[in-house]
Amino acid sequence: MNGVDINGIGMTSERTRDRMLERLGEQGIRDMRVLMAMRQVPRHLFVAEALAHRAYEDVALPIAGGQTISRPYIVARMTELVMQQPVEKVLEVGTGSGYQAAVLAQLVARVHTSERIHALYLQTRRLLRTLGYDNIHCRYSDGELAWKREAPFDAIVVTAAPETFPETLLQLVRVGGQIILPVGEYRRTQQLIRVTRTETGHLREDIEPVEFVPLLKGAI
Ligand code: SAH
Repeated sequence: MNGVDINGIGMTSERTRDRMLERLGEQGIRDMRVLMAMRQVPRHLFVAEALAHRAYEDVALPIAGGQTISRPYIVARMTELVMQQPVEKVLEVGTGSGYQAAVLAQLVARVHTSERIHALYLQTRRLLRTLGYDNIHCRYSDGELAWKREAPFDAIVVTAAPETFPETLLQLVRVGGQIILPVGEYRRTQQLIRVTRTETGHLREDIEPVEFVPLLKGAI
């Protein structure tokens, strides 16, 4: 296992985290590996100090740059979908707070992630280093192409929503690999979908309705 054992760090009791796990179980998250990874990662360190007391509630919280850290259920669900296949190397588009990357990094050998907001990239890269996540590689760039040289990935997770599925992502995942992402207009109906690359094309499945910030072009 990678990442850190943070028992004893910070303000949250084991009970608070256990309550988050119980809730995730009630919401249908069954993969014990995912639940244990989420127990390990100190979510309260990925949000502003003033919000740390709400870190283990099932809510999305604001982070720098007008962005949000997804609610624990969504992180768990996306991670569970990724883990349905053998995966070693994962690409994440939309580093944000770094929380999703940290959860993945507990479970897979390597996580590559990109963020288009420079201040957020710097802040999160520093946090992930401090926490000892040596297997997370951060880049400042928009989209997935910054990591093209590392392709093919076993799975890709996009944590901001394009309006429609960007087919360019397919080039970066191996045949049989999965792309988990939300699609749809901001503040309108969005769907979490799973796209599996096949020998001849791809297969798309709807998972469930979600709410994500938009995937935007250009690094700022
Ligand atoms: N995975 C993050 C979710 C953050 S919200 C977490 O666990 O906290 C989504 C993030 O995607 C935002 O930080 C936003 O700036 C970033 N983003 C949006 N469009 C992007 C793009 N084209 N390339 C990279 N990052 C992008």
